[in-house]
Amino acid sequence: MAFLQIAQIGHPVLRQPTREVEKEELETPAFQGFIDDLIDTMREARGAGLAANQVYRSVRVCVIEVHNNPRYPYKPNIPLTVLVNPKLTPIGNETFENFEGCLSVPDMRGVVRRHAELRIQALDRQGNRIDRTVRGITAGTFQHECDHLDGMLFLDRVHDTRTLCTWKEFARHHEQAFADKVRAIVNQYGS
Ligand code: ZN
Repeated sequence: MAFLQIAQIGHPVLRQPTREVEKEELETPAFQGFIDDLIDTMREARGAGLAANQVYRSVRVCVIEVHNNPRYPYKPNIPLTVLVNPKLTPIGNETFENFEGCLSVPDMRGVVRRHAELRIQALDRQGNRIDRTVRGITAGTFQHECDHLDGMLFLDRVHDTRTLCTWKEFARHHEQAFADKVRAIVNQYGS
């Protein structure tokens, strides 16, 4: 088990689009060990997800997991998911407003518009094809992580900078209203 250092906003690695991973590379014990470290680091930092370039490795891999996360108490659970070379395609035109934070953007949250339904095509860590649909708040988490792999941060998508706030002020002034909105989204999309 190894915990990796998480790159912070301002480091160029977060702004470079990542490269795809070849199947032969994915299968190596070294790369499988890296995926284990990425998962351990996400869990240790209590993230809902973590992209490889957030730990200074510019490859198209991210991990996602939500299990009663205290950082995001209102988020529906997501089983551990490893995405290799993911491609997201929005389904329909519906969007929702998500209040996001990021392990690479310390103590800052803001409102971002996300697609409510997506098709995800990727490989899992064994190289098997993933082709599935995700909806609602969970779809927001997948978009956040895949944005990282394209060199984007959630801040780039904050359309109204007046929504930016620290975690403390979020809890004080915005969490209750947002948790109510999340419940409505979860009721509508099932996740
Ligand atoms: Zn992030």
